[in-house]
Amino acid sequence: MIDLIEMGGKSSASVAQLQSRSLFRQSQQFLVGGVNSPVRAYQTVGGIPPFIRSATGAYLVDEDGTEYIDYVGSWGPMILGHAHPSVVAAVQTAAARGLSFGAPCQLETLLAQQVCQRIPSIEKLRMVTSGTEATMTAVRLARGVTGRCKIIKFEGCYHGHADSFLIKAGSGALTLGVPSSVGVPENCIADTLIAQFNDLDSVLALFADHGTEIAAIIIEPIAGNMGLLLPRPGFIEGLRDICDHYRSLLIFDEVMTGFRVSFQGFQGISSVRPDLTTLGKILGGGLPVGAVGGSASLMEQLAPTGPVYQAGTLSGNPLAMAAGLATLTALEQPGCYDQLAEMTCQLIEGLRERARASQIDLVVNYCCGMFALFFTSREEVSRFEEVLQSNNILFARFFHGMRQRGIYLAPSPYEVGFVSLSHHFLEIERTLRAAEEVFAHDLQEKS
Ligand code: PMP
Repeated sequence: MIDLIEMGGKSSASVAQLQSRSLFRQSQQFLVGGVNSPVRAYQTVGGIPPFIRSATGAYLVDEDGTEYIDYVGSWGPMILGHAHPSVVAAVQTAAARGLSFGAPCQLETLLAQQVCQRIPSIEKLRMVTSGTEATMTAVRLARGVTGRCKIIKFEGCYHGHADSFLIKAGSGALTLGVPSSVGVPENCIADTLIAQFNDLDSVLALFADHGTEIAAIIIEPIAGNMGLLLPRPGFIEGLRDICDHYRSLLIFDEVMTGFRVSFQGFQGISSVRPDLTTLGKILGGGLPVGAVGGSASLMEQLAPTGPVYQAGTLSGNPLAMAAGLATLTALEQPGCYDQLAEMTCQLIEGLRERARASQIDLVVNYCCGMFALFFTSREEVSRFEEVLQSNNILFARFFHGMRQRGIYLAPSPYEVGFVSLSHHFLEIERTLRAAEEVFAHDLQEKS
């Protein structure tokens, strides 16, 4: 853990964080680590997490009254910015009609229809309440229809916290140094085979040994839980060919990339079609939603039409469906994704330029609406082992330097940053001014 004192000894009002400090002490009495999801506890970067009082557009305000430009966006869902008026209004209208029915309601069909119309490989959908449930369901379905047990995942990819995925996982598991969690049974470990992102040979080797036992490959087609890695040309196409050859299913985990990198997610920028797609985050517009979708024939293998069981008390919750529908409707505005791509590009080009000017070795990987910084002298970062070679101490200093200047980034070098449609020229400029100072001062002191 890195002590705040080490971060340059800053003692501005925002670092004092009196309210957040006190609230964090109280929360630690009742909540494990004071948080409900591990990375929020700041263990890797050190310091105290700000307790958030409110959020609007691109801004968060904490309980000490400090305002931040937010690049976490609730870890992805807030693509429109916080408290978007049309989403808030849709949730309020739905809430007035009842919070949960445990029976079908029309909002579920409307949201599912939007998804099926947009994402070419999805004819039918099952709504669940988190990304983890979506990926769990996708894998069970793949196992059910193929009659095989093993899956392939990629080192550093994260698909939620179900047993099968907590083996060489990314995100918080990697951040906290427990990529393979204690508590996962041996047989689960044996059924999860690990390949390397952007390395088709590593996949072929697993199929050569276990080809007829592999139910599915699950992949984040743009990896966003070990920083951000873009797939090299031919990599995803190669996975499709291998799956077709061995009659295994290809699952795109688009919980993060869905509706973010284009309105159709990764499937809007690639011609490769998966058998199953998992969604979450933006699909719920900030409320808890996940989904798994695919061809009608495959999806109908789920209960009640098929033998693969899956259920959920709050699945298709009307408030969550309303938030998702309002979000997807707002994203239909012409030019949305051009704006998002443009703002992301301005931010990244600006960061690269300022890092160069201060002679900081920095690689930034990005695509529309998401980015990751690697403090490394490498030319590029495209593989997991290269991610691990970047300098996490510099990242922590950058993180705290930015935070002291009102810029809120994810407290881990392995999480991506998210740009929203509420980030305009003003926010990007303020962010770049802050970065310029941090590169020129905070990162020079003890590099
Ligand atoms: N898949 C991916 C690609 C994710 O990024 C995440 C969460 N960050 C999940 C699955 C799990 O989603 P949830 O946290 O909603 O369970």
